[in-house]
Amino acid sequence: MRDAEKTEENLREIMAREIAGNPHAEAIIGAFQPLLLARRRLLAAEKWPAVTLTGFDPARFGAGIPLLRQVQFFSAANPWGEMTDMMAAAIGAGFPVLNRDMERIAGAARNKDIDLFSYFHKLVDAGRDENLVFSWAEKLSVSAPVLEFLLRQLSRVVLEKRLTEAAALIGDIEWRHGYCPVCGEFPSIALIEEKITRRWLHCSGCGHEWIFSRVICPYCEHEAQQGMDFFYVEDRPRETAFSCDQCRRYLVTLKGVSELADRDLDVTAMSLTHLDVIMQGKEFSPMVNTPWNALR
Ligand SMILES: [Zn+2]
Ligand SMILES: [Zn+2]
Repeated sequence: MRDAEKTEENLREIMAREIAGNPHAEAIIGAFQPLLLARRRLLAAEKWPAVTLTGFDPARFGAGIPLLRQVQFFSAANPWGEMTDMMAAAIGAGFPVLNRDMERIAGAARNKDIDLFSYFHKLVDAGRDENLVFSWAEKLSVSAPVLEFLLRQLSRVVLEKRLTEAAALIGDIEWRHGYCPVCGEFPSIALIEEKITRRWLHCSGCGHEWIFSRVICPYCEHEAQQGMDFFYVEDRPRETAFSCDQCRRYLVTLKGVSELADRDLDVTAMSLTHLDVIMQGKEFSPMVNTPWNALR
């Protein structure tokens, strides 16, 4: 069995296990399944060019500037055409209502009516260019948030492909922020380990995970004096949501985790959307909007 097949098979097992544990999540995980499988396939592909990430400044990193704003992760030599076609088709398969927009965007990228690479190339200096997204959406008569959804899936693949190189750059430089050291996004889910009770934050923007203090809010860095507030549904004490009264943000958190490796944290986050419903009902906002927690 080739590696790509192995990882896809493994991902299918992970999804089946999460659905078995939280049957209410079957529809949402099922909708994202083609996208998650396409991502694994792209990450396993061998066609990626070797790149050297240059521009890293440890002093700027130490001052809290994430890698994405220092280092050019995006190369013209990346398989943009294949990535765009595969991700657009996968999103259309999971979300038939988006199919028309996905076909239009992929077609425009194929015909070079829009140059997706130009959008990603600017991220390092200028950040996300919303105006460009709006102008493309208008030109193609597609929804801007739907185009943005696809763009974020593409940047996720490229960033995740480079995580090993990114980790090598960071080395053991300490990062004490609640936003991602690689791409700067806030976490979509946290894990607290069983024995050493470290808190891991997971970024859905790039797939990176990093350790963060258990007594500080990742969003506003407020330190709780009386311990952290965790909400959980009765009978399921491991599935919780950390909440902060200062910034009114919450973070879905899985406690007592022993097997970190055999998980896909995006799938875990999708299996816990009942907590998103409850916390948003209590007027808390997520630390980052994801396609599965943006309920409003
Ligand atoms: Zn990130
Ligand atoms: Zn806070």
